[in-house]
Amino acid sequence: MNYDVIVVGAGPAGSTAAKCLAEKGITVLLLDKERFPRMKPCGGGIPINTVKRFSYLEDYDLIESFSYGGFIHSPSQKYSIELNEEKPIVAMISREKFDYGLVNIAVDSGTHFIDGEKIKDVHISKDNAQVVLHDGSSIESKMIVGADGVSSVVAKKSGLAPQQRRVNVCIFQEYPVEEKVIIEYATEQRLSHIHLMYYGIPGYA
Ligand SMILES: Cc1cc2nc3c(=O)[nH]c(=O)nc-3n(C[C@H](O)[C@H](O)[C@H](O)COP(=O)(O)OP(=O)(O)OC[C@H]3O[C@@H](n4cnc5c(N)ncnc54)[C@H](O)[C@@H]3O)c2cc1C
Repeated sequence: MNYDVIVVGAGPAGSTAAKCLAEKGITVLLLDKERFPRMKPCGGGIPINTVKRFSYLEDYDLIESFSYGGFIHSPSQKYSIELNEEKPIVAMISREKFDYGLVNIAVDSGTHFIDGEKIKDVHISKDNAQVVLHDGSSIESKMIVGADGVSSVVAKKSGLAPQQRRVNVCIFQEYPVEEKVIIEYATEQRLSHIHLMYYGIPGYA
């Protein structure tokens, strides 16, 4: 047996699962098809209750800022709903840095991490569970955690979700802006502006 547990996918779910297992002395391999740090389309807003639940996040400098509210603008931009609280309601993160930070926390807890390794199949038997890598070789464990996202190979090949939903294409763009621009538009309270249609483009900005 190579490992007690193989976690496939090093997004927030996989890295957090790996950290929790490794802390208990369980031998864990965390695998991801991408090379880290990697980008992930995301609005970057984490509800404050999640930050409280995983309170160690604040020790690792993974949170860029806290937002105290904001505005949701209608597609015509004529209407908006405002929310402004005295305490922060959302933590803002950059997924490239955040996900890599969570991987490093898992590694610090004893996880063995391999990136750039895509799994193409899983074999589950009474005695063990194997992941099959892209080159056809396999790694053995007692258990596999499928944390490989919305198009999970683990879910498909293990039979947990053989029929996966058809998914749409998502185009995303992040723009770096200077701190003074952020303060001008979002204030010190980091008020978010959520546009449900932006210059005629459906989606949100
Ligand atoms: C446009 C957009 C905006 C979003 N905004 C927000 C937001 O503001 N706040 C929020 O909380 N959530 C947001 N989400 C949702 C959030 O991104 C997901 O809920 C979250 O990423 C799920 O985490 P996860 O760890 O389950 O999967 P993921 O983060 O998707 O990670 C899965 C990992 O598995 C790896 N993987 C996939 N297949 C394989 C394979 N075959 N072999 C090896 N590795 C594999 C991938 O490379 C990836 O790193 C947004 C999502 C989208 C699409």
